[in-house]
Amino acid sequence: MTLKLVVGAATDVGRVRDHNEDAYLVDDHLGLIAVADGMGGHQAGEVASATALEALRAAVTSGEGVRDAVTSANDAVYDKSTTDDRLRGMGTTLTAGTLAAGGTLLVGHVGDSRAYLLHDGALRRVTVDHSLVEELIRAGEITEAEAESDPRRSMITRALGIDPEVEVDLYPVPVVGGDRLLVCSDGLTGMVHEPQIKAALDAESDPDQAARRLVEAANAAGGVDNITVLVVDVVDDEDATAAVPIVAPDAPDAPEESSDEAVEPTAAQTSGRRGRARRWWRVLRWALPIVLIVVVAAGVLTWYARDTYYVGTNLSNVAIFRGRPGGVLLWSPTLEQRTTLLTSSLALDERQSLNAGHGQFSSVGGAQAFVRELRSQAAHRTSSSTTTTTVAPTPTPPTTVAPTSAPAAP
Ligand code: MN
Repeated sequence: MTLKLVVGAATDVGRVRDHNEDAYLVDDHLGLIAVADGMGGHQAGEVASATALEALRAAVTSGEGVRDAVTSANDAVYDKSTTDDRLRGMGTTLTAGTLAAGGTLLVGHVGDSRAYLLHDGALRRVTVDHSLVEELIRAGEITEAEAESDPRRSMITRALGIDPEVEVDLYPVPVVGGDRLLVCSDGLTGMVHEPQIKAALDAESDPDQAARRLVEAANAAGGVDNITVLVVDVVDDEDATAAVPIVAPDAPDAPEESSDEAVEPTAAQTSGRRGRARRWWRVLRWALPIVLIVVVAAGVLTWYARDTYYVGTNLSNVAIFRGRPGGVLLWSPTLEQRTTLLTSSLALDERQSLNAGHGQFSSVGGAQAFVRELRSQAAHRTSSSTTTTTVAPTPTPPTTVAPTSAPAAP
């Protein structure tokens, strides 16, 4: 027996806001349901939620599993927000479910819109909010009750469109005929307590009526945010020719067995391969430029550190080194060539200049020429100092020329 989804939907601006930035999607043919709660200045929030749902539908239509499809929705919102200045910084939550063969609803989730399952008279929350208060509750810093009045309760920690990459949580929810799901924005859950939500779901058998009743309850409680509610009844599909969801499982724990009308295994495998290739491409697209930059930087640094020579001292001799005086990061200078020129034969200023690392050259030939120059200077000093010590220079006495007093006779 195959399953189908019968969906009731309601969305409302609420009683405080002047725009409805929430949006929802119900596609019977694809077996796809989704709620998006957009955020951003002016009309950007509406653009974000609508863009996400459009991209989600296109991705599922082209055979992507729900996790990849939510990632594609992130790409679409992010691309728009980074190419249009008026949309900069926009984002949206997205909670999307696709009915896979084998009776599993695969729920992809980012943000604080929620999915609940009403099964056997019990209401269970399926998704974990990506919100600050949820993190505080999990860290034991505040209680669930405190969270309800916490001023930070609308702060979310994950959304679509903010970063080029997004982590999508995937929840496989096994469903049977008679189950009821609720997918809603925080405009409902921020206003109406779960017992009251359950009471409304129990009381109203028609999913459309149930959705409307929940919106009314949120408005009655203040309606401070936009409210969107999908009430999804899972029913056994008596009509064998009814539209069957074509959804490729993209999670390892997704059901593999295909029912009589499910996707051809080959198609599912192709889609899986495409999904993997896509994920690799995502990683490569971001990793490759970084790897290139690191390689180029390392090359430049190596060249800078190694492609130079300097004249320095090694023990008591002048020597030519390859590298930079003192080294660069991991590259220490290496001794290229010893010379027979003694450091002691250098003039003091020459020695100081070498110690300060001033004798640098782009080639070993340049360094050798410099050493030859030093050697000839030293030789010159030796010969001239020999002269000066043996023959002391006699100071030239100042010659005073007496002015001739004799006037020239005309
Ligand atoms: Mn909201």
